[in-house]
Amino acid sequence: MTTNQSNSGRTVLPRYKIGKTLGIGAFGKVKLAVHTLTGLKVAIKILNRQSMDNAEAEKVRREINIMRQLFHPHIVRLFEVIDTPSNVYVVMEYMNSGELFYYLTEKGKLREDEARHFFQQIISGVEYCHRHLVVHRDLKPENLLLDSEHNVKIADFGLGNTMRDGHFLKTCCGSPNYAAPEIICGQLYAGPEVDVWSCGVILYALLCGRLPFDDDNIPALRAKIKSGVYPIANHLSESARDLISRILVVDPMKRISIPEIRCHPWFQNHLPLYIAIPSPGFFNRTEKVDFEVVKEMVGMGFDIREVIGSLQNNLQNEATVTYSILLHSRPPSQAIQHVQNVEAPENIDNIQTHTQSVSLGQNTWTLGFKSQVSPRETMWDVLKIFHSLNVQWKRIGYYNMKCLWLPPPLRYSASTAQIPIRSDNAVKFEIQLYKATAEFYVLDLQQLSGPPFIFLDICAAFRARIM
Ligand code: ADP
Ligand code: MG
Repeated sequence: MTTNQSNSGRTVLPRYKIGKTLGIGAFGKVKLAVHTLTGLKVAIKILNRQSMDNAEAEKVRREINIMRQLFHPHIVRLFEVIDTPSNVYVVMEYMNSGELFYYLTEKGKLREDEARHFFQQIISGVEYCHRHLVVHRDLKPENLLLDSEHNVKIADFGLGNTMRDGHFLKTCCGSPNYAAPEIICGQLYAGPEVDVWSCGVILYALLCGRLPFDDDNIPALRAKIKSGVYPIANHLSESARDLISRILVVDPMKRISIPEIRCHPWFQNHLPLYIAIPSPGFFNRTEKVDFEVVKEMVGMGFDIREVIGSLQNNLQNEATVTYSILLHSRPPSQAIQHVQNVEAPENIDNIQTHTQSVSLGQNTWTLGFKSQVSPRETMWDVLKIFHSLNVQWKRIGYYNMKCLWLPPPLRYSASTAQIPIRSDNAVKFEIQLYKATAEFYVLDLQQLSGPPFIFLDICAAFRARIM
């Protein structure tokens, strides 16, 4: 590092000690740094403002703001963005075991179990982002980073995505080995299917140790991708080959979707429970304040009111950034356990005891349970329970209802004193049933209107009956 850089680093980023370069990307360097207050390591991506015009910078800023809201165990966490006239600094989680690309180069092809472990994690991260309307469009092993526990996280998600459209078409002479045929053909729309394609190329590379479409000559490579013809991998199980063949389909309309990948037997094998539950906000750790972290921060000299206030108002300041960095250094949610560890279910009609019940703040509930009957019958059982609770509903789809609950005329308060119920105590909420694995279902309950505690009452009443 030159004196100049270290000087500017110190003044622009006074809270970080900048270290070695971790990687060089299309828009600037990625540096290792230490967050001096906590002593924890972070990675800082430096985007040079000169390489973008104002409109592009604005788009990048918007996308970075989306990224700040994303919390997922397989997406590199973004802690803070520092905007200066010359650079945009993106402070993120440091991944200490490097790129999946290097791992793969060293090991050659992986065993199916190991490839599946990575692939399940990648798909869960990609799916989560798609739910937040972020499409990566540049998934490749260089953008998949490993932590010390052999977990993969997606880097580079959304950053410069919109920029890439123009950039990619201009510089497509790079190596588009992972790009979907529709991108190669320059089609403007690039939806979630392009990420699915790239995941298929990654899966092939993991299992075979080589690329499905490869050629030193770029026009020849493009032609191979557009043809969708790749060397058959005879050493693979039939199930793995089947999954690859459903992903690497040239027509994006016929290509397998992420929900369908989730149901594929190869994917389902040894699927960890936290990945089996595709709940939109499952990993969101912003809803509740972790008081252990706050206590630690008070010990560092932070004012508790400032910490809580900043968190509640979703501010980006020293308190919230320190909070996120500390929170992130802790073990992930205990909800992460393996399907195999799920306790034996009890019988109650068709639906059996739940294994997960996650409160996602006061207006969303997610409830997981086992059911051995068809999705329709499972939905029917769910509705039977709501019917017994006097909930009325209107069907939006087979597995999606708008519900209305008018609590009984009298309620008991905690002190058992009766309080009259008012008509404005009616709650409206929406339910959506998802099938996570062969026997595991997830019911999302999302409040639409009414008092939050009445909503919690109906969730609790439902939960008590389903258990
Ligand atoms: P670009 O979009 O320009 O490709 P990336 O975000 O992919 O930039 O970063 C370039 C390289 O820097 C990565 O391929 C990786 O080797 C390294 N890198 C990026 N982010 C991190 C991180 N959080 N931790 C460790 N290394 C990283
Ligand atoms: Mg990259």
